[in-house]
Parts: sequence; structure tokens; C-alpha cells
Amino acid sequence: MPRLAKANIKKVSVRCAVCNADDYDIVAKVREFEYDNTTTDDFQFVVCRRCHLFYLNPRPDVSELGTIYPPEYHVYIPPASTASSFLKKIRAFPDFIRMQIEKQRVQKGPLSLVSGIPNAKILDIGCADGRQLLMMKHINPNLELYGVELDDKSAHAARQEGLDVRSGTLEHSNLPNEYFHLAYCANIIEHVDNPGGFLKKIHSLLLPRGYVVLLTPRVGGLDYLLFRKRYWGAYHVPRHWNLWNDENFTRFAHDCGFEVVKISSVLVPTHWIWSLHHWCSEHRFPSWFVDGITMHNFFWLGLFTCLEIILSKVYQTSEMHIVLQKPLHPGSKH
Ligand SMILES: [Zn+2]
Repeated sequence: MPRLAKANIKKVSVRCAVCNADDYDIVAKVREFEYDNTTTDDFQFVVCRRCHLFYLNPRPDVSELGTIYPPEYHVYIPPASTASSFLKKIRAFPDFIRMQIEKQRVQKGPLSLVSGIPNAKILDIGCADGRQLLMMKHINPNLELYGVELDDKSAHAARQEGLDVRSGTLEHSNLPNEYFHLAYCANIIEHVDNPGGFLKKIHSLLLPRGYVVLLTPRVGGLDYLLFRKRYWGAYHVPRHWNLWNDENFTRFAHDCGFEVVKISSVLVPTHWIWSLHHWCSEHRFPSWFVDGITMHNFFWLGLFTCLEIILSKVYQTSEMHIVLQKPLHPGSKH
């Protein structure tokens, strides 16, 4: 029997995760646009009047995580490139392109930070089925790699590949303190209920002068400006709970004990694809057309990747690539 969307799920009202204020304006009335088997409830994104953090408020209670993350949630599905038939391989081409972009991103980003350290210890937080870790291993087989993944099935799949991946949350992972040279955390922090506690936990796991590289949406970019009132793909309702900009993320990182090394932009065609999908879904487009606007569609992925390449030359994109460093001594810069 198909899983049905729930109405009136349990929700909690929250304060700003950066400055703890309870002083906000509503910026967007939003709903679930991606899955028809999670919740039919309406939500709102608000902006903190003090620090401009965007956050979902009220948001689902953590007891509803099983409701808002359906079994077919996209990160749980292995990339189609492992498929066998020729037709499947053609369909897998967009995934192949995305993996190539990802490979470059990993090589120029996190791996370049530890290139001078033999056997650098790296932790991938929210590693899914370990695809990033396998990519890192392929690039440099001498790395000592670890992962943490909430979804047990994905963590199991990663272990099947010979990776050291713990199931569960970072907080309950029993990883050693002051052990890692680098933590990598791609598109996770916007999902967690206590981002401050989460970033402080990463801080405790890192060696002094260790790095954390994060990817998270930026409240900014042309797609944000066009779709911010309801359809912006980065809202990812109701699974994204906090969205930062460069300024309030810098403050947030300092409060958690980190120095900001760099915040830059990365290409993010998926925000455009989802924004268009959500807009079309409420503007009388046939469902076959709307259903085709996905990140697995070569046409849309190609089109918006080209657009992002052009836009990124002149403007920030709506995805931040953040490098933070744990100081050698608390409160010091070195
Ligand atoms: Zn605030």
C-alpha cells in the first residue's frame, strides 16, 4: 500500500539558531513540493530581524523525521551510473556529469587542504553510501577515511565497500576527540535541529589547526531573488531548517570556536531546477512536464549548469563553500 502524506504533523516553534532572538518577519509561505507522501501541511520561512538568518518556523518536530524523509529520499538512492543496461547508462549520464563536477570540487576543496599531510585523517559527515569517501580514496589511497551516516541502509552500503562508516548521528558516533585533520560536511548543517551543537561537536573532533569544509545554501543569488517568496529550491520544505548568508555564517562559526578561512560560491544548478519545478507545479503546467523537471534530466541539468557557469563569473551563487579552521589555542588565530 502506498505511503500517504500526513496532515497536521507535530511541529515546534524555535528561536534563531545564530543569535537566539525570537524576533522575526515571515518571508515565504511554503509547502512540500518534491514528494507527495510526506506532509500536506503549510509552512513558513522566517527571517531573524537581528541577524538575518532564514529559518523554518514552526518546523517539524524531530519525532517526524520519518515522515518528512520518505524512503525514496534522493540521497538514499545510489547513483544510476551503477546500472547495467545500455539504456540505463544513457539515463545515468547526468549523474556521471554531476559526479565529475563533484570529483573536481573534492580535489580542489577539502583534499587540497590536507595535501601536505601523509595519511591525513578525514571524516565525511552525512556520507550517505560513501560515494565521496570512495572518490577521495580513488584520488589518494593513503588517506585514512571515516564516515558517519544517519540512514542505516546507506551506512551499511558504505561498509560493504570496505569503508569505516558509523550509523547514527554525529553526536552518538563515539568518534575520538582531536583526531581528524579534516571534516567534510556537504549539505547537512541546514538539516540539523541544533546546528550550533553540531558545529561545536565537529570542533571537538578536529585536531588543532584542523579544517572543516561545509557546503550549505546561501541566502542570495539570482535564483533566490526570483523565487524567494515561495518556490525557491533551496527551501527544500520541510527538510531545510536554517539558511545562512556570508555574514551570519561568519558570526555563527566564530561563536562555535572557528576561524573562517574562506567562503566562496559553487555551482548549484539543482536550486534552479527545483525552483522551476515548484513554480510550474502551481502554474497549470501538465504533470508530465512538471515531473520531468528533475536533477536527473540531462536537458535541465545542462541548461542550468551553463547558466550557473555564466552567472558565477559576475555574481554569487546560492551555495556556499565554507572553509573553517580550528585555532591552535582557543580564542587565538594561530
Ligand atoms: Zn538571529
